Amino acid sequence: MPPTTTDAQGAPPTGSDSTLRPPSVDRVLSHAALQALIATHGRTEVLEATRAVLAELRTPAARAGASPRSYAPEALAGSIGARLAARDRPGLRRVFNLTGTVLHTNLGRAPLPESAIAGLELAARHPTNLEYDLGEGRRGERDELVEELLRELTGAEAATVVNNNAAAVLLALNTLALRKEAIVSRGELVEIGGSFRIPDVMARAGAKLHEVGTTNRTHLRDYAEAIGPRTRLLLKVHTSNYEVHGFTAAVAQPDLAELAHRHGLPLMVDLGSGALVALERWGLPHEPTTQEALRDGADLVTISGDKLLGGPQAGILLGRRGLIEQIRRNPLKRALRLDKLRLAALEAVLRLYRDPDHLDERLPTLRLLARKPGELEAVAARLAPLLQAQLAGRYVVAVARCESQVGSGARPSDRLPSVGLAIRPAVRGRGAGGALESLTAALRELPVPVIGRVAEGALLLDLRCLEDEPTFVRQLGALRIGQSSARAEPP
Ligand SMILES: *Cc1c(COP(=O)(O)O)cnc(C)c1O
Repeated sequence: MPPTTTDAQGAPPTGSDSTLRPPSVDRVLSHAALQALIATHGRTEVLEATRAVLAELRTPAARAGASPRSYAPEALAGSIGARLAARDRPGLRRVFNLTGTVLHTNLGRAPLPESAIAGLELAARHPTNLEYDLGEGRRGERDELVEELLRELTGAEAATVVNNNAAAVLLALNTLALRKEAIVSRGELVEIGGSFRIPDVMARAGAKLHEVGTTNRTHLRDYAEAIGPRTRLLLKVHTSNYEVHGFTAAVAQPDLAELAHRHGLPLMVDLGSGALVALERWGLPHEPTTQEALRDGADLVTISGDKLLGGPQAGILLGRRGLIEQIRRNPLKRALRLDKLRLAALEAVLRLYRDPDHLDERLPTLRLLARKPGELEAVAARLAPLLQAQLAGRYVVAVARCESQVGSGARPSDRLPSVGLAIRPAVRGRGAGGALESLTAALRELPVPVIGRVAEGALLLDLRCLEDEPTFVRQLGALRIGQSSARAEPP
């Protein structure tokens, strides 16, 4: 149905200055330039956007500054089109992570390897044998897709996977210590990422937390004295995101395992990051591996899929077959299970570990962690002049040595030497803070937002995680720095 109009159609509302008014909604909608937008977005969306644009033009401020051109159909169609495009933009967007934290929880942690992306796509597009045994022609177990690989890679007797490591801890405690006790050191009652607190998870799992020792010192006898008839397991948590220095004591895992086993109890280790290979091989600081935890007597180990493993969000439980089977039978397992997309991605990532020699080429997380300052210096040398040209007169861009961190609970004190671009406002003193804020805001408004970190009066763009230079460079021309920034006089 053609749009109805109240105004006379045809002549654009331009030309008269004294009686300048925005045109009516119907009049705008009837213009040819709007028909293309209606064909793409639908009439309802275009009507909404038109109303919103016209409402903005009717404000006293807008009317005071209006000219015949502001009401020209082409100008209005442009604003309406831009509004619709902004509405169409997905909420979840790609960003450049130049924060220097490789596994940044707020920015989605591990980027996936190509083979995992292919797996995701296949599982998204087609029916799969997710829970179907193709050999036997009957129902199968979804866990089996990755259990064999996990056993092979870690030497664990059995394995199962759930939504994330928080879910793995919840499920394990609910299965093994419901209405009973788990003993844990006060020095390991960690909070991770502001929302995952071991004590809270244990409470929701229905397990009573028996805390032993003090924040800085816990001895084997503290555990031994706490073991009683209600004890169901000993728990060791890898205190990944903080360290206690000075007068400290923690019980070595083999000693704890020996104590647990003497009392017929399992030792559970929440390893968090849980590498599957020794990272020293690539010149990186040591992170406890899953194999070490198992070798040192853990009966059950839980790790994240999207931390050092470099895969999709997932929680992996590895250990004794009896315990894993008990965990699988818990009805909560169904509520916490992994979906087919992430199972496909996880399987592909685990496969890469069969060939450690090529792991740093194929697994993006490891590739980024292993990048050397020399390579990053070359990136910085290419980018600094381009960025400086874009910011001429207002900011000074310098190549700077900096330090990246692994992130997501890997030891925060282990720093990776890196190279970045340090950007400082050309003006000093008053106005410099505002100028820095304008710059960080403008970088966030780019088509692919750029997220850096502000430190010591500069915005630092750590280049460790910048691999797609062409996209970064191409969008520099779109950088628009707000009016609030302090402008230095041109030299
Ligand atoms: C990160 C971490 C968790 C939570 O893992 P998610 O996969 O983020 O749920 C639990 N425990 C430890 C020790 C961790 O480092």
